[in-house]
Parts: sequence; C-alpha cells; structure tokens
Amino acid sequence: MARQFALFGSLPRRPRRVLLRVVDAGDHGCVTSFRYFVHLVCPRCGHDAEWWEFSTKRESLTQPCPKCSPEARDA
Ligand SMILES: [Zn+2]
Repeated sequence: MARQFALFGSLPRRPRRVLLRVVDAGDHGCVTSFRYFVHLVCPRCGHDAEWWEFSTKRESLTQPCPKCSPEARDA
C-alpha cells in the first residue's frame, strides 16, 4: 500500500498517455501493406476503439486512448 502511494506521488503533473491495448488480432485475408489488424480497447476507461489496421506491430501497440490522452484528443 505504501509503495503504491509512493508511485503515485512521483507522477509528473501532466497525465501520462494511456495507450490502447490489443484485445484481439486477426487477418482479414487481403494482401495489403497493412499487415496488422487489431482490435484496440483502453485498459483504463474501457473505450472500445474497434478494429484498426497498421503496417507495423509497433504502431499497433502505441495508439493513445482518445478519451484518456489529452494530446490525442487535441490532435
Ligand atoms: Zn481511455
């Protein structure tokens, strides 16, 4: 409990970017440059971003939640 409190105390003033989590991944069978077909959901607010296509795995893992991440909302 005390350790958790210390972690929260060390957070920067600006809220951290919340990344969407891949809950499902698939292949739509088409031959395109978008090889990663993923279903993204926010682990914090539960926002369902539905299915997205990405050309790299890294891209699919670094999408910010539009509801939890101010910078994504402003963009
Ligand atoms: Zn969220």
